[in-house]
Amino acid sequence: MAGVTAKILHVDLSAQTTRVEEIPEPVLRRHLGGGGLAAYLLLRDMPPGVDPLGPDNVLVFTTSIINGLSLSGTNRYTAAAKSPLTGGYGESEAGGWWAPELRAAGYDGIAVRGRAESPVYLWIKDGQVEFRDARPYWGKLSGEVQEGIEQELGDKRIRVLQTGISGERGVRFAAIVNQLKHFHGRCGLGAVMGAKNLKAIAVRGAKINAPLDKVGAKATLTYFKDHYDRARDRFHQTGTAGGLLNLEASGILPTRNFRDGSFEHAKAISGQKMAETILVNRGTCYACMVACKREVEVKELGVTPRFGGPEYESLAATGSLCGVGDLNALAKINQLLAQYVLDSISTGVAIAFAMECYEHGIITKADTGGVELVWGSAEAVEHLVHLIGRREGIGELLGEGVKRAADRLGRGAERFAMHVKGQELPMHDPRGKKSLALAYALSPTGADHMEAPHDPLYEGFHPDGHPLGGLGLIEPVKMLDFGPRKVRAYYYTQQVWSFYNSVGMCDFVGTPLNALGLEQFIGYVNSVTGWNMSLYELMKVGERSNTLARLFNCREGFTPADDVLPARMHEGIGNGALKGERVDPEQFLAARRLYYEMAGWDAETGQPTAARLAELEVDTSVFQAV
Ligand code: SF4
Repeated sequence: MAGVTAKILHVDLSAQTTRVEEIPEPVLRRHLGGGGLAAYLLLRDMPPGVDPLGPDNVLVFTTSIINGLSLSGTNRYTAAAKSPLTGGYGESEAGGWWAPELRAAGYDGIAVRGRAESPVYLWIKDGQVEFRDARPYWGKLSGEVQEGIEQELGDKRIRVLQTGISGERGVRFAAIVNQLKHFHGRCGLGAVMGAKNLKAIAVRGAKINAPLDKVGAKATLTYFKDHYDRARDRFHQTGTAGGLLNLEASGILPTRNFRDGSFEHAKAISGQKMAETILVNRGTCYACMVACKREVEVKELGVTPRFGGPEYESLAATGSLCGVGDLNALAKINQLLAQYVLDSISTGVAIAFAMECYEHGIITKADTGGVELVWGSAEAVEHLVHLIGRREGIGELLGEGVKRAADRLGRGAERFAMHVKGQELPMHDPRGKKSLALAYALSPTGADHMEAPHDPLYEGFHPDGHPLGGLGLIEPVKMLDFGPRKVRAYYYTQQVWSFYNSVGMCDFVGTPLNALGLEQFIGYVNSVTGWNMSLYELMKVGERSNTLARLFNCREGFTPADDVLPARMHEGIGNGALKGERVDPEQFLAARRLYYEMAGWDAETGQPTAARLAELEVDTSVFQAV
């Protein structure tokens, strides 16, 4: 044993008490941190059936064994709880500055239960924890909260994690943000925080976390420095928004609520256009050389770089998906989403849903306060962001998420509700990227585009030193292939993404999307911890993490009937290069069945089998009601 453990701060908001738990080394090595450890804690500490917006939900924040050290991309961490959007496992990763500071303050994670009597925030400094009055910040936009807490504590270098007005008011896709720009966007975890009357967690610390083997760790830093080329890195140059034009060219830029795959104003809202016009800076996360984040300014609309700038998902969700082709307006909308702390994907999909309902007379002007919800109207999108953020007017309905909103509206609205398990679809179309049909249908959190790298990457597999060649991925698999080779490629790469989420590694720094190779990365993990982990063991961490999240959902009553896609995905794309392309229902079911068998999930119940649990060394006796 190398003596590597993790300190979890347990906080009971009802009793206003805290205690510290030390995660033993074997448990930590099996889960590493992040998503893996979060799923373990939720299964262990929360019974099934709790109300996601009640005091018994447990909200955890987990960093990892390498978080806060010097390697680019290792600042990421996880927020997780039972999701108010899906009623199942909710997990969402963010980067930024908060997690390294939490570790510097002496904790590797926080688990919050209960509900404070009135709004509080936590102030954690060098191991000390204080419950402080957050009433002055309740009902305030994110910028005011950040500034207010900095002033109150008299320290500009504190790091603040907060929920927004949307989270206070129970919008089911409210997000959590740190330092105004780094979001846990998905699964409505901001609403869980709001329901607990927990406005924010401010952290500051002086502890230095260092690798056990400094020379070995430095070798990985040197490798990355030598192999990373900023001038040629698309993530640095155009950010995630740089991919928008590729998707347009491929005919899979989600447009007008996924009816179309090509948007006539794609160029006008692209990352390239942003770089030429409103981009003023490239932001970054703690110790990251890649600096993929956008910071934009539109003075005449009051848009400031303080809130960063739109990522691809935001541009597409509030842009092409709603027919809006005005980049400046999208920058303003993006800022509003940040100020209310809303998930930009779910918000955009909810608005596109409302627009299509409006087109079909299911929603009328009487419902919108006189606003015309027509495709392409930036004013309508902006108006609805305010209403959703404040949960007022039709924003109360849309803030429930499209699944619940469609149920309430009836009259065929479900046809326009793009969701899986209640979570709105991200801005990638499974009809042109077939592996996403599995990612969306099978992800424990509902539709999720960050389960694995996407199909264009699979097309590039080759035997001559491909970075994933060590996994046996050495032959190209075509974009529209949806056979066994695609399922295998997805299954393997999903484990890589999953262990990245557990170890807190950014997908935009690690291979296969960027220059940090798997071998060098594993070397780094071992240098930090003194362990002798292999690629095999890390892949098992990924598989275990997915399996635990699946167990969580099975415990909540999910079945294979929930592993499905919206009907529109089985209909042809309306225009563009892939006009008419669809996800064939038979092919989908065959691929799903194959995935179940690979994952060791029972074909009838969807439950992980006893054999797979044993193989992954999952001890269900420590979990509640599994
Ligand atoms: S690549 Fe981007 S998101 Fe990832 S850690 Fe670096 S700056 Fe943050």
